[in-house]
Amino acid sequence: MAQILDGNRIRDEIKNECRPRVEKLIARGRPPGLAVVLVGHDPASEIYVRNKVKTSQELGIQSETLTPAETLSTGELLAIVEELNRRPEIDGILVQMPLPPQVDSKRVLLAVSPEKDVDGFHPCNVGNLVTGRPGPRSCTPAGIIEMLKRYRISIAGKRAVVVGRSDIVGKPMALMLLHENATVTICHSKTHDLPAVCREADILVAAIGRAAMITGDFIKNGATVIDVGMNRLESRREVERIFPIERPGAAQKLAAFDYKGTLLVGDVHPLDVAERAGAYTPVPGGVGPLTIAMLMVNTIDSAERRIGVC
Ligand code: NAP
Repeated sequence: MAQILDGNRIRDEIKNECRPRVEKLIARGRPPGLAVVLVGHDPASEIYVRNKVKTSQELGIQSETLTPAETLSTGELLAIVEELNRRPEIDGILVQMPLPPQVDSKRVLLAVSPEKDVDGFHPCNVGNLVTGRPGPRSCTPAGIIEMLKRYRISIAGKRAVVVGRSDIVGKPMALMLLHENATVTICHSKTHDLPAVCREADILVAAIGRAAMITGDFIKNGATVIDVGMNRLESRREVERIFPIERPGAAQKLAAFDYKGTLLVGDVHPLDVAERAGAYTPVPGGVGPLTIAMLMVNTIDSAERRIGVC
């Protein structure tokens, strides 16, 4: 039986470790401060921001959400970011992506002070990651490393394959695995014979954005499989294609779709991975919960550095 890597459990552990650190900061003068800038009304972004604010509140982190008009210009957003850079009680600034098309996202991310860049997206912090220096790390891959370590899944010397090369997940994931002494391969849409490359992996990370693309023939028996993907299926035909009714376990997926009208599926086929992997993250309840937990850690780290606690 494959081991299920429970992201909710690890998230709770990380949150419990955050609480005394926040209390110590409050005793030293003030709570950590997180500013979230949300432009527009993208439903997924609104949910993410709500969850980030809720988690901050639970931990005693002072959070504020700025919601400027969707029509704002790059210059106007830069002015907001610069004001947040100046405010001493703000330790972390998060500009929720995606931004409206008229806004130059790269310029905005570059404007966030690297010391308040709790997403770890600023090129200075990407450089810190590449060179192994301290600094905020991209939250999703940092959460995955935490998960592997806390489940005592050894990384050093292992073959790791990361499918996806985005700046926020795939590339930092590969670098973090490399720093943990894995032998790392990065794959993408132009990789030849992707299943064969993936089958070499002791640790396989899928960050693609394609529902259930990683099927059993991509997975080496006993591998650890980390599924970053979050794909919402909205068509019954698509659900039936991925989960043919004759397959054990498929009926529950179809019933869940019929009940809700949608079904959340990762990039890894959930029935196949349970049959072949040694350990794997489910969707939901795997990688997802860790991203916000690591955002909290990055915010507290920043506050400790800025207040001089650590
Ligand atoms: P992204 O920026 O769209 O990048 C997708 C990557 O997948 C690209 O590098 C792309 O290759 C590669 N790819 C696409 N189709 C492929 C194929 N057929 N074969 C091999 N590689 C392929 O996506 P992202 O932002 O990294 O996110 C990936 C997934 O993770 C999404 O489902 C997203 O919702 C989810 N996500 C989850 C969390 C979380 O907290 N759980 C956080 C972030 C993202 P090319 O570079 O060649 O185009």
